[in-house]
Amino acid sequence: MADRSGKKFNRRDFIKYSGLAGAALSLGGIAGAGYLSGRNKATHTGWGRDAYGGNQYFNRAAFRVHRPTYQKVGPVRRITYLENIFNRNGELYRLMFPRDGSSPQWTLKQGVSDLPGPLRDYYQSHPGSLQEFKKAFRRGQQQKKNWKKYKTRYLLASAWSAAHESPLHGKGAFPSEPEGPPEESDFKGITTEAYSLKSPGHGSRLIKKIAHTFGATLVGIAPVREQWVYQGYLRGVGKTQFNKPPHWKHAVVVAIPHEWDSLYANPVYGTSYDAYSMLNFIAGKLEVFLKHLGYAARPHVPPTDYDIAMPPLAIDAGLGEQGRHGILITPELGANTRLAAVTTNMPLEEDHPIDFGVAEFCRKCKICADQCPSGAISSAEKPPDVIRGYRRWAINQDKCFTIWNTVATQHPRGCRVCLAVCPYSRKNNWVHRLAKDVDAYDPTGTFSSAMLTMQKSFFSYPGGAQYLPPPNGTNAVYQKPPQWLKTEEWFNLD
Ligand code: SF4
Ligand code: SF4
Repeated sequence: MADRSGKKFNRRDFIKYSGLAGAALSLGGIAGAGYLSGRNKATHTGWGRDAYGGNQYFNRAAFRVHRPTYQKVGPVRRITYLENIFNRNGELYRLMFPRDGSSPQWTLKQGVSDLPGPLRDYYQSHPGSLQEFKKAFRRGQQQKKNWKKYKTRYLLASAWSAAHESPLHGKGAFPSEPEGPPEESDFKGITTEAYSLKSPGHGSRLIKKIAHTFGATLVGIAPVREQWVYQGYLRGVGKTQFNKPPHWKHAVVVAIPHEWDSLYANPVYGTSYDAYSMLNFIAGKLEVFLKHLGYAARPHVPPTDYDIAMPPLAIDAGLGEQGRHGILITPELGANTRLAAVTTNMPLEEDHPIDFGVAEFCRKCKICADQCPSGAISSAEKPPDVIRGYRRWAINQDKCFTIWNTVATQHPRGCRVCLAVCPYSRKNNWVHRLAKDVDAYDPTGTFSSAMLTMQKSFFSYPGGAQYLPPPNGTNAVYQKPPQWLKTEEWFNLD
């Protein structure tokens, strides 16, 4: 064999060069993949929501040493409060700007010897540190003046940061309860004119992106229709009859799932509060973000801080359809979909409802009705009843609540069997994703019937009454609890 210059190539050369080429190609591939994955946020460690620690992947065992890697070289003493810069700066600020509005006890014109005891001791033993504080303080004054110049450039970054910061400064719950009518409370904290968006579409794309960074799994935009707004009670006002406030133009509807394995282990290794607490944070942060841009905002959050019924709002926002169990079913999360919303006057482009076959599937399925320990879910073949002018499935709320108070738990109460057993509530592995996709495009219903038969054959269900404590039931769970929620795995029990 000869190359283009005529030089002879033997077998060893061929292996050598092809090996080098292969290595180069591999390295190139790795580098390329690394470059591409580095540009994809989904591959950034820490951004996934892995309840099982999958992101902490580094094998530490191989690097374990039996000594600390910090070095002890002398007598050890504990750190003092003033060695933390934010603590000593806080002390100085309180002297300069007393909270009770009295005259300053220290000013920048004064020196170390004018400070009270421990502060004076600290700065005397750290020469230069007080000078640095004075420099930083003056720079901060200048920074405030410069902010006018930079404000627009960093507007979104500032609003995003403020939203994340807000939960840290609350004295009570976050988001805080509205105080006063929406015309006041929804505008509280706004310090700027509303920034003009390029278009409602820009507004929707921006707010969806931001909601995802706050932790929302699904986001949709709905108009606020008055028929979904509760009547008779308005948060911030109390018992009252009222019309929909005109500035409730749109609702940003956000959804997240419960932790999947604890949900499947209902009742009652699950809780509603894992999703609720996160939804409060997401909606509360969206409120701060919107207000920072000059728009009115009011979060509607679980468990009970809503002025609007969530399922129809989420349907209008295109997130999913309502199932036989009365709960929203989304293509991505099934019935494991928990909701919150933020009403706003920001100009936004609205989403459209989706119809991916839930009504027809529910007509045939009825698993939730069979499994419900209270009999609150209808198993009727006939179409659902008309409620407040709309034909829809509704559960017997009173019977359901009795079961919350019957199953073997004290707090958080609840059942959630209907969410767990719903065939749509399957983790999003490729089989289930394929099944959902194919079903959504099959107008004949043949595929869903086949899937339903498989579902009922492959999955075993304890049956309604079994979820109850003895003597009527056996404290059954739908699926085994995850190991991390089994008390006996961690504690000595009698
Ligand atoms: S939460 Fe439990 S009792 Fe209530 S409707 Fe669902 S399955 Fe039935
Ligand atoms: S369990 Fe079946 S009937 Fe019940 S909501 Fe889910 S799909 Fe519909």
